[in-house]
Amino acid sequence: MFEMEGIEDGPASGINAALPLILAEAETLYGERKPGYEDVRVEFRDSGAPCVEFRPGGATIYVRSEISDTPREAFCECAHEVIHLLSPHYYGADVRTGSVLEEGLATHFQAKIYQEWPVPTTEPFNPPPEFEHYRQAWMLVESLLTLKPDAIREIRNVKATIGLIEEADIVTAVRGISPDLAKALVRPLETLKQELQQRGQDDKD
Ligand SMILES: [Zn+2]
Repeated sequence: MFEMEGIEDGPASGINAALPLILAEAETLYGERKPGYEDVRVEFRDSGAPCVEFRPGGATIYVRSEISDTPREAFCECAHEVIHLLSPHYYGADVRTGSVLEEGLATHFQAKIYQEWPVPTTEPFNPPPEFEHYRQAWMLVESLLTLKPDAIREIRNVKATIGLIEEADIVTAVRGISPDLAKALVRPLETLKQELQQRGQDDKD
C-alpha cells in the first residue's frame, strides 16, 4: 500500500509518481526488465490507442487523455504498457501486435493493478478489455499462471525477451504444461484476432 502523493497536482504528475512503483511490481512478479530503457515517463494524449514509444535510453508511455481525470483507469492503461517495457523488442513488419503471451500478460497485469491498487476512482470501469482477442489472450495467461504462479519468471530465465519466447522455452520452464497451451501462447495476437473474426464471419454465413 502507498500514499498517492501528487495526484492533486494533476494526473500526469500523479501517474508519473506511481510509475516506478508499477514498474517495480512488474519486475518483482515477472522478472527484471532489460537494461537500456531506464528513462521512462507517462504522457497523456488526445488521440490514438495507448502505447509505448521507445527512444535511445528510455521510453514514453502514452495514455488516453479522455481518462486522465480517472486515475484508476489511467493506472490500469499504464500498467498494460509497463509489461511491454520489460523486454522491448521490435516486431517484424508483418506482425502488428505482440504474442498472445505478452499481450495476455499485459492484460492480466492491468486487471491486477486495477483491482489491487488503492488509487481513487471517479467512474465505474470494467477492466476486462472490450476486445475479445485480448480477453482470450488474458485467459490463456491465467491458465498458465494457475498451473505455475511464477511461470513468467521461470520462462524468462530461459529466454528474457517475452516477445521472442517459443513453445520449447515454455515447455522447458513449465513442467507438465499441455503442448496446446504452450503453442497457443506463442502465437501472434494478430493471428488469434483474425481467427476470431473469421469465426464470427462463418457464424453469420
Ligand atoms: Zn499491449
